[in-house]
Amino acid sequence: MTIVRDSFYINGQWVKARSSETLEVTSSGTGELFATVPVGTVEEANDAVEAAAAAFTAWSNTSPKERGEFLQRISEKLAERADDIALVIANEVGMPLMLAKGIQVGIPTATFADNATRAMEFTWEEEVGNSTLVREPVGVVAAITPWNYPLHQIANKVAASLAAGCTVVLKPSEVAPINAFLLADIIDEVGLPKGVFNLITGLGPVVGEAIVSHPKTDMVSFTGSTKVGKRLMEIASQAVKKVSLELGGKSANIILEGANLEKAVPDGVFKCYLNSGQTCSALTRMVVPRSKLAEVEELAITAANGFAPADPITGSSFLGPLVSAAQQQRVRDYITKGIDEGAKLIAGGVEPPEGLDKGYYVRPTIFSDVKNNMTIAQEEIFGPVLSIIPYDTEEEAVAIANDSVYGLAGGVWAESDEKAFEVARKIRTGQVEINGGAFNIYAPFGGYKQSGVGRELGKYGFEEFLEVKAIQHN
Ligand code: NAD
Repeated sequence: MTIVRDSFYINGQWVKARSSETLEVTSSGTGELFATVPVGTVEEANDAVEAAAAAFTAWSNTSPKERGEFLQRISEKLAERADDIALVIANEVGMPLMLAKGIQVGIPTATFADNATRAMEFTWEEEVGNSTLVREPVGVVAAITPWNYPLHQIANKVAASLAAGCTVVLKPSEVAPINAFLLADIIDEVGLPKGVFNLITGLGPVVGEAIVSHPKTDMVSFTGSTKVGKRLMEIASQAVKKVSLELGGKSANIILEGANLEKAVPDGVFKCYLNSGQTCSALTRMVVPRSKLAEVEELAITAANGFAPADPITGSSFLGPLVSAAQQQRVRDYITKGIDEGAKLIAGGVEPPEGLDKGYYVRPTIFSDVKNNMTIAQEEIFGPVLSIIPYDTEEEAVAIANDSVYGLAGGVWAESDEKAFEVARKIRTGQVEINGGAFNIYAPFGGYKQSGVGRELGKYGFEEFLEVKAIQHN
């Protein structure tokens, strides 16, 4: 049955969309219609910002404890509905259901809870000489999010900004918007004061730009492509608005001589293929000693063979489809480009996987002997495509890792953590994992260079939504 949402959440109530135009959301695993959402207009976007602006003074004056209690209740309700939300996201995005529950719902649930505690335990004032430093919320936040980890990216912005005392207008991705409606249902149930959180869907260049450019919007918090990030920065610059951007990546995973290849290679393949490679911090470039290239290739092919794509709802694979037909075509075009530019295709390829004639599947693909100046090593593919790049010296490995316009994440494998740390410090990215270190939701996430501005998650993510005022006294 198709899910139909026909209203926006504005000023504490569901308001029927003015236009009858809708956006269709398809189920990635089957290509069938899954849901429709309304197309917002500039007027409705303006209503949402006005509601957020009107709610700001009262919300920013609530106690951190009160705000924290709201966030805690939201987290609890997300946990109660984890199965339903995971099913929605497995349909919208195509991440296998068994992974979606833990990652796509578990992480945002924890992020709301973390921001609840953070608001309550934060040091809101401190003394510096004859000044009292006061931390205050930035104001009205325009939150614009993508589709790949849709609720996680929403939680990073909404939980932290509400905890800080900001009010929010959320414009989720048109590709995966239903999870945002479920969050709005929960926010409505917990009785958040009207106007504090508002939700509108529609096209980025219309409603997205309207909420960003509205004079009462104080801050733009965006996750998505570098191209759109640049555009929003330009718009925000007209009124010198605060901007926080989480953009693309092309992260390198350096495997040093002496590393345990039997651990490093399968782990690297998994971290490239998670969510069908649609992860901004995916480790898409495996940088390996030339002397070990043949061994790495063999281990990588074996690992890739364990990722036979399957239906995200009924299947039992770690690899589902891509999100959409457009994304599937884009990834296939990159595979063709890799072949044309002379990279060595050792697994996968452009042909669709056997037995999956519906949905947006792509075969798990590996190129070897890739040169770092090839398109597949420079551009973000956002699909299950790994590039193995050989190096001769450690300095060259670091230079390859840093030879990118992006600077989001990276990995280092070495014979010891000490050695891996030494190399990790030389990588110009916001995160580096060493010897398979796990993702940490309390650590700041964000990019150097064209991967963005600012950080999300944990203390640094929370502080993005705060100003600091110095009050001088005698
Ligand atoms: P996108 O940039 O196309 O869209 C992101 C959001 O921006 C959507 O809600 C879209 O409607 C909106 N948008 C598009 N044009 C707009 C405009 N002119 N004005 C205002 N809003 C506009 O990105 P996507 O395809 O949804 O997501 C994939 C991209 O996101 C990848 O490049 C990926 O690397 C990046 N990403 C980055 C991070 C990170 O934290 N660094 C996380 C996830 C995804």
